[in-house]
Amino acid sequence: MADSLPLCPECSSEHAYEMGALLVCPMCGHEWSPAEADAASADADADASAGDAAVVKDSVGNVLTDGDSVVVTTSIKVKGSQGIKAGTKVRGIRLIDPVNGHDIDCKVDGFGPMLLKSSVVKKV
Ligand SMILES: [Zn+2]
Repeated sequence: MADSLPLCPECSSEHAYEMGALLVCPMCGHEWSPAEADAASADADADASAGDAAVVKDSVGNVLTDGDSVVVTTSIKVKGSQGIKAGTKVRGIRLIDPVNGHDIDCKVDGFGPMLLKSSVVKKV
């Protein structure tokens, strides 16, 4: 529909709004033109048709699967704590439909349930 705005192609935020001929994402500051967004959503449709077969890869291109163990490759800030340090091992990850770009559900020792991005982990 014409009045449903597309998701931000950078961070998948649904809070994008129109500013003149551009769409603007308040979450990450990305600006793009609706024409590009159309192309992006066509890509998304292609991805969707692949369904559950969509492949999630870690930061170096290894394919991740449910139950894998990974290490965090980049220190991650976590609200209200000292954060997760690079090199932290995470066991038994679960792949999920991306939430704001986070596609791994897991439990981090000392932190509890956590969503991570596959781009900041490496399979071990
Ligand atoms: Zn965004």
